[in-house]
Amino acid sequence: MNATLPARDGMAVDPRPPIDWAAVRAQFPILSRTVHGKPLVYLDSANTGQKPQAVIDAVAEFSARHNANVSRAVHALGSEATEAYEGARTTLARFLNVHRDELVLCSGTTFALNLVAYSWALPRLKPGDAIVLTRMEHHANIVPWQIVAERTGATIKVAELTPEGELDLDGLWQLLTPEVRLLAFAHVSNVLGTVNPVREICREAAKRGIVTVVDGSQAVPHRAVDVAALGCDFYAFTGHKMCGPTGTGGLWGRRELLAQMPPFLGGGEMIREVRFEGTVFNEPPMRFEAGTPNIAGHVGLGAAAEWLAALGMAKVEAREQQLLEHATAALSAIPGLRILGSAREKAAVISFAIEGAHAHDLATLLDLEGIAVRSGQHCAHPLLAWFGVPATCRASFAFYNTEAEIDALVAALHKVRGLLL
Ligand code: PMP
Repeated sequence: MNATLPARDGMAVDPRPPIDWAAVRAQFPILSRTVHGKPLVYLDSANTGQKPQAVIDAVAEFSARHNANVSRAVHALGSEATEAYEGARTTLARFLNVHRDELVLCSGTTFALNLVAYSWALPRLKPGDAIVLTRMEHHANIVPWQIVAERTGATIKVAELTPEGELDLDGLWQLLTPEVRLLAFAHVSNVLGTVNPVREICREAAKRGIVTVVDGSQAVPHRAVDVAALGCDFYAFTGHKMCGPTGTGGLWGRRELLAQMPPFLGGGEMIREVRFEGTVFNEPPMRFEAGTPNIAGHVGLGAAAEWLAALGMAKVEAREQQLLEHATAALSAIPGLRILGSAREKAAVISFAIEGAHAHDLATLLDLEGIAVRSGQHCAHPLLAWFGVPATCRASFAFYNTEAEIDALVAALHKVRGLLL
């Protein structure tokens, strides 16, 4: 990818000089707009990330000059479109340190996890088998497995958390009994920011012959992820959280596993030969890409990966850690404010509740100040129930945010707290 040195758990140390973050921020046109007459303070990047001009341009350039369908036409535009789409696959594969033939492009993490559920798990699991999930999963990494369990007779076991919001690893090891076939878990929690020790967990699972599925939605946008070094079997990610367009993302799968999997959807592109007597499917990754893909979107995602690689993911991670520290200290000083999750390794996500104030009311009043935070249960009902809170506000940061924006959030919270309490 770029000049990086291997370090802990798929992360990397970047030796290049410091970055002018104000100049980086200036590349995101949306960040200079106003909302309700106030400068936009966008603190909802865990929900979806903003796009730099380079990505906006890549999508526009594709649509304006190269638009055609992929792999079907021999004409010039068809070749250009195929080259652009397959070029994006190559760029993304390099970004994640995987082989391009093992990278299925799809609409995002939800599709990717469902692909594993329907194509790997559904045909294999049977009564008596078990799936292990964790308490901190997003619904996208719960519901597909519930569907599999219901249809196959397999059961679901849940790994619990420590009060700090870290995985209770001793508890997890105890759950990994011989009937467990699959372990699905988040690399980084979208609510708590907890960074899970993926390598260690995958090592323990592999010793027991358990297939691992990692939800990388909240990791890939915020740190260098070397998927090959993690030792997992499947890794899902979403493009729109990593500066790419919506409706993009991918699933990396170990070659042997992908090769054994039947298609998830049938149609054009995923076949070699179709006769009414029977159809020969294409090899992965094409086998899992039926129909016309989101070509322009993935061209944009390729541009996003290139742009992030040039910035340096170790730099991104370090900058976001500065913002997290600043925000944690400032928010903790607000009376009655409780932060959910204080993992030792934590990404720049802060979910908080203020005693006596409903999260939706807080978020609505913050919006009037131009501040965008998410409120609710963040597609993680079992996690919020465990913490015993009906809803939280979540401020999630990206490298393009500033300390001044965090200070604006804190000032606004003081103000709206006064209005609500
Ligand atoms: N898993 C996690 C941890 C997420 O944060 C999200 C997005 N909120 C998803 C899965 C689903 O991603 P998408 O909606 O892009 O499919």
